[in-house]
Amino acid sequence: MIPLSKAEAYVLECALPMSSTEQVGLWESLGRVLATDISSDMNMPPFDKSAVDGYACRKEDLDANLKVVEVIPAGQMANMEITQGLCSKIMTGAPVPKGANCVIMVEEVEEVDEQTIRFTGKYSKTNIAIFAEDVKEGDKVLSKGVIIEPQHIAILSAVGVSNVTVSVRPKVSILVTGDELVEVSEKPNVGQIRNSNGHQLYSQVIRSGAIPVYIGIVDDTESATETAIVNALSQSDIVVLTGGVSMGDFDYVPKVLNGLGIDIKFQTIAVQPGKPTLFGVKGKQLVFGLPGNPVSSLFQFDLLVRTAILRLMGGSSAQRELLKMPIAHDYKRKRSERLALVPAKVNGNGEVELLSYHGSAHIFALAQAQLMVIVPIGVSQLKKGDLVNVRSV
Ligand code: AMP
Ligand code: MG
Repeated sequence: MIPLSKAEAYVLECALPMSSTEQVGLWESLGRVLATDISSDMNMPPFDKSAVDGYACRKEDLDANLKVVEVIPAGQMANMEITQGLCSKIMTGAPVPKGANCVIMVEEVEEVDEQTIRFTGKYSKTNIAIFAEDVKEGDKVLSKGVIIEPQHIAILSAVGVSNVTVSVRPKVSILVTGDELVEVSEKPNVGQIRNSNGHQLYSQVIRSGAIPVYIGIVDDTESATETAIVNALSQSDIVVLTGGVSMGDFDYVPKVLNGLGIDIKFQTIAVQPGKPTLFGVKGKQLVFGLPGNPVSSLFQFDLLVRTAILRLMGGSSAQRELLKMPIAHDYKRKRSERLALVPAKVNGNGEVELLSYHGSAHIFALAQAQLMVIVPIGVSQLKKGDLVNVRSV
């Protein structure tokens, strides 16, 4: 049994970034990994820009009435220069006219007559966004390895990138073992349950930016397991299996993987839930054998398989960041030789509340889960208010 940190290190070491890239349209780039640095083709703002709707004028003239000489809409240059006692009505985003050094907000202005206004507010700032204060032409605005989120799409758009070079998406096969499993559309007979892992994993593969390949339910026999794994390996970069990796009489996965020449790096990790988690390598291909219990496979995918997928795509943040939050109540556990992952939600006071949960089969407890709380090895109790490490689910 190895600690999670060691397991993560194995995965990071064995998951080699794929070198191929492809071009996709801006909208399709969401969730993909940027494969090149991006620099700006222009200064931003490209001109001194009004940040408000108001009147462009000189700060030193604000005590007197001001004559309005023109109206400047966004998208047009001013015709008139501002000199003493003059102002121009200006819209948000329009270029500030020459001679003006501030824009007073329309809300702080009184009309004296049709052509004249008076400032009624108290001067605090210029309300002008200065030429190139955000970005200079040629500045790097995004780095290779970024996982593209909507804010990155805004930045790509602003600098004129309509075709984005991204890493290719790895193919991830999903294979579930278990004679007790039936598919979602079927009604289980006595002793049977529906396959939830296959579909949960499929959705996690998509959310991680990879291409899922659904192999489906495999019988608990050595030959069926072998045929299915060979099939999965022939069409994917990563194979994810659930079930069949623990100590039961019908748990054939480790034996079959060994027979296929897969180098098994670890078979148990000191994590609860998820102790029987297997990781193996064949050349550049990776194989994960996750426990059959639904909460275990859900969490272990996020901890290890997502990390591998992002690593293959060259993602710069392959691992999720941990946050520290106060716990809402005391917590105790009997044994502490494994790191515990406990499903939790945030309450109205900004504290984490552990969800009541019967163990790794109790997927229904996760209906409200927002986070997993990480209780380190050796820690068997926590007091209300203690800071704990949390990560998103
Ligand atoms: P195993 O790891 O094969 O011993 O399975 C552990 C537990 O997880 C058993 O109770 C299985 O019935 C359950 N299980 C295995 N595979 C799945 C699946 N695909 N969906 C839901 N539960 C599963
Ligand atoms: Mg099984």
